[in-house]
Amino acid sequence: MKIVFASGNEGKVREIREMLEGMEIELVSLSNYTHVPEIVEDGKSFLENALKKAKIISEFTGETVLADDSGLQVEVLGGEPGIYSSRYAGEKATDDENNAALLAKLKNIPQEKRTAFFRCVLVLYRRDGSYDCFEGKWNGQIIDERRGNNGFGYDPIFFVPELKKTAAELPAEIKNKVSHRGQAFAQLKKTLGEKLKN
Ligand code: IMP
Repeated sequence: MKIVFASGNEGKVREIREMLEGMEIELVSLSNYTHVPEIVEDGKSFLENALKKAKIISEFTGETVLADDSGLQVEVLGGEPGIYSSRYAGEKATDDENNAALLAKLKNIPQEKRTAFFRCVLVLYRRDGSYDCFEGKWNGQIIDERRGNNGFGYDPIFFVPELKKTAAELPAEIKNKVSHRGQAFAQLKKTLGEKLKN
């Protein structure tokens, strides 16, 4: 089964390839296509953004498409950075600049009020316009000190109390099992597994 993944985020592509390993799925990256239409992520929710990307790329490629939208939500900040996670410090901000912007906002907030969660919404969009959605949520808290070198984005400052580690200190295979993306993918794999059997 061929599925085009609607993203240019290399960190995510890597994680998703690992998560779909062992399935009879050819995951094609968008970097295999030229003249890809520009997609403005102007939805008001993770779902709106994922659905928009999936629909545009499916119409462009004529293939089944998988799209995701994800981000970090900090409760004391009313859910920020949310859909702005990748550009919290500005349009072309680096991961480190986004982390710094978030830590600056949390400067006077005590540790016990720094609860946060990652969310991931996945959309599997078929050529006939039908689609399935899957969602995952991963709880943690934001710490001032950056720890670990794995992963990407906010991983170095996202501390997972049950594991006593930041997401960036977790080996990829552990992160992929427990993360927001891992949870959403577990549901996707179940659905695809059932379809591949039939
Ligand atoms: P998207 O590419 O529009 O989905 O934006 C996702 C952004 O949310 C990323 O650029 C990161 O800043 C953040 N993010 C999502 N998932 C993760 C994760 O697993 N670890 C760290 N940051 C993440």
